[in-house]
Amino acid sequence: MAELQTLARWIKESSRTVALTGAGMSTESGIPDFRSKSGWWNNIDPATVATVEALEENYELFQSFYAARIGGLRGCKPHRGHQILAEWEQRGFLHSIATQNVDGFHQQAGSKQVCELHGSIRTVRCSTCEQRTELDAFLAGQSCQTCKGRLRPDVVLFGEMLPQEPWQRALADIRSAELVLVIGTSLQVYPVAQLPHMTQGRVAILNYEPTAQDEHFELVIHGKAGELLQQLNTQI
Ligand code: NAD
Repeated sequence: MAELQTLARWIKESSRTVALTGAGMSTESGIPDFRSKSGWWNNIDPATVATVEALEENYELFQSFYAARIGGLRGCKPHRGHQILAEWEQRGFLHSIATQNVDGFHQQAGSKQVCELHGSIRTVRCSTCEQRTELDAFLAGQSCQTCKGRLRPDVVLFGEMLPQEPWQRALADIRSAELVLVIGTSLQVYPVAQLPHMTQGRVAILNYEPTAQDEHFELVIHGKAGELLQQLNTQI
């Protein structure tokens, strides 16, 4: 495919490439995304559950939603595409990854420079006193042992600010990037959706379906992230 050849050339030419990944990066690992047809969780719109309101007013639903998402990670692991990104970092072809994913797969695959923009589903804290606690306590539906507050995963809920440290790091990396490679995201969640517009460098997107932002990219390649990254890797 001519576009893949162009992208491979851009990656080799760029002295600073930053990847921005979303849920589509992990579907080939068996983790459903949010907005694809197959991505809805039990026919519930996650945007109505992954919220501060649900945490405060509908905790039972909130807890069962996240317990199911955490349970869904069991038996799933990073795929070849995650490993390729980690290898590119080692080989000097990728500076860092800014990810909306909360599954930790980039780090599990060996990537070191990862900005988790939406937090992590692998750790849990009390929503009142902020004390960290065991994942199993959350899965069992327990409350905080110190203050009896509600336990929650360390993810960013709709209606919450993004953690500033990874956001600022991602912003700086993207601003100074020569190439931003967006992978597997519908680019509908703000402020992350603005990030590809904040670079002076080239911008390319690899996504299964068209997104509402495709016209802003210099290169748009539709396909599965893992497969496309494997094809690209043969040319790098
Ligand atoms: P999204 O569901 O809105 O969009 C995912 C996009 O990925 C879709 O456009 C879809 O066509 C595409 N896609 C699906 N499979 C693909 C594949 N194999 N290769 C390439 N593209 C593929 O997800 P989003 O844009 O990341 O935003 C959703 C929010 O959901 C984020 O806040 C994120 O934190 C959260 N989320 C995270 C995970 C995870 O950590 N794995 C899973 C679901 C949702």
